[in-house]
Amino acid sequence: MNYILKNGYFPFTDEIKDIYIKDGLVEKIGDDLESTTLDVKVVDLKNRIIINGFVDGHMHLDKALIGEKVMNKSGTLFEAIEIMSRYKSNMTKEDVKARSRKILDLAYKNGTRFLRTHIDVDHKIQLKSIEALLELREEYKEVLDIQIVAFPQDGINQNSKSQFYLEEALKMGVDLVGGIPAIEEDPIKHMNIIFDLAMKYDVDIDMHIDETDDPKSLIIKDLGEMTIANGYIGRVTAGHCCSLAANEREDILPIINLIKRAKINIISLPSTNLYLQGRGDKKNIRRGITPVKYLIEEGIPVIIASDNIRDPFNPFGNANLLEEVLIAAHGCHMGGEEDLNKLFDMVSIISGESLGFGYEIKEGKKANFIVLDAVTKVDSIIRQANIFGYFAENIFRTN
Ligand SMILES: [Zn+2]
Repeated sequence: MNYILKNGYFPFTDEIKDIYIKDGLVEKIGDDLESTTLDVKVVDLKNRIIINGFVDGHMHLDKALIGEKVMNKSGTLFEAIEIMSRYKSNMTKEDVKARSRKILDLAYKNGTRFLRTHIDVDHKIQLKSIEALLELREEYKEVLDIQIVAFPQDGINQNSKSQFYLEEALKMGVDLVGGIPAIEEDPIKHMNIIFDLAMKYDVDIDMHIDETDDPKSLIIKDLGEMTIANGYIGRVTAGHCCSLAANEREDILPIINLIKRAKINIISLPSTNLYLQGRGDKKNIRRGITPVKYLIEEGIPVIIASDNIRDPFNPFGNANLLEEVLIAAHGCHMGGEEDLNKLFDMVSIISGESLGFGYEIKEGKKANFIVLDAVTKVDSIIRQANIFGYFAENIFRTN
C-alpha cells in the first residue's frame, strides 16, 4: 500500500507538509499532494507532529530489568555495583537477549527509533553480552538503529582481562569504546588506554564522567584536554557530568569553554541521577544533574537519555523519552515554552545529529517515522502524548 499523509507538522522546520510514501520509501514531501491512483491511501494527520522517532543516546540494555529479579535494598550506587558484580557471574547470553528484547520492544512502542547502549565487558561476563547485542543489532536493523558501546564497568587499570575483552569487542564490530575513569586510582591511565583503542580501531568514544556530587572530581577537564591533544574533536561523548553542578558557575566556565572547543557531547541522565545523587546531603539535598540549562545557555548541545531501566542502579524507567524529558523538566527547572521545545529537541534532532545517526525525513529515504498525537512539542511533553501512528513494513499503522 502507498500513502499520502496530509498535514503533518514537521517541528524542526516548523512547517505543515504532506508526505507521499511509495513502496516504503519517502517519494515526495510537499504541499497539497493529491492521489492520482487508486492504490494510494490518504490519511489526514491534522497538523500532528511527524518526526523520525526519538533517540535514546545512553542505555544499559544488558542490565535492564535485573531490578525485577534482585532488589537493591539500600538504593545506593555501592550496593548496585555489588549486586551487578554477583549477578554477572551467572549471566548468560540468552538472559541478556531476553531482557534486552523486552526493552527494545518497549522503546520502539514508545517511539524510539535510534539508540546507543553501553554493554559491559570484563572477566566475568567476557563477551557474552556483546555477542547478544551484536545479534540483536542485526535482528532489529530494519526498525531500530542501534549503536553498541563496549563498556569496562569494573575498570581496566588493574584488570588486563577487561582491556583484552574491550579490544576483542572492537574487533567483533561494536560501534564505540566506553570508559569510566572515576572508578580507577589513576583515571588518566584509564583514559589513555581508551583513547589508544579508539584511535587504533577508528571509533568514537563515549565515557561515563564525574557521576558524583564531589565538586573536586572534574575529570571532564582532563577528557577535554585529551580529546584536543589526540585530535578527537567532535568524536567524544561524556555521560552524567554531575559534579559540574556542585561548582560555582564562574569556576567551571573555563571547563565549559574547553568542552566547546573539544566539541564533546554532554548527555544528562536525569532519572538515574535524581535517584542516585545527593544521598550524602543532610539538608538542601542536591539534584545531582549536570547544570543542563546553564550548559545550553553556553551553547553546548546537551542530550537527555534513559540510562538504567529497572535495574540495581535505578528501579524506574519505561524506555519512554517523553517521560524522560518530563523528569528533566522538573529536575532542571525547565518548564517554559522555550525550555520544553529544547527538551524535545534533546531527545530527537540534537541527539540524532550529535551522535551520528542519520536523523532526517527526506525524499528517497526509508519511511520509518512516528506521528505523535500532539500538534506542538510543548503539548507532547505536558500531556505525555501517545504515538498516533507509525510507519513500518510498508504500512502506516495507527494506535
Ligand atoms: Zn550509564
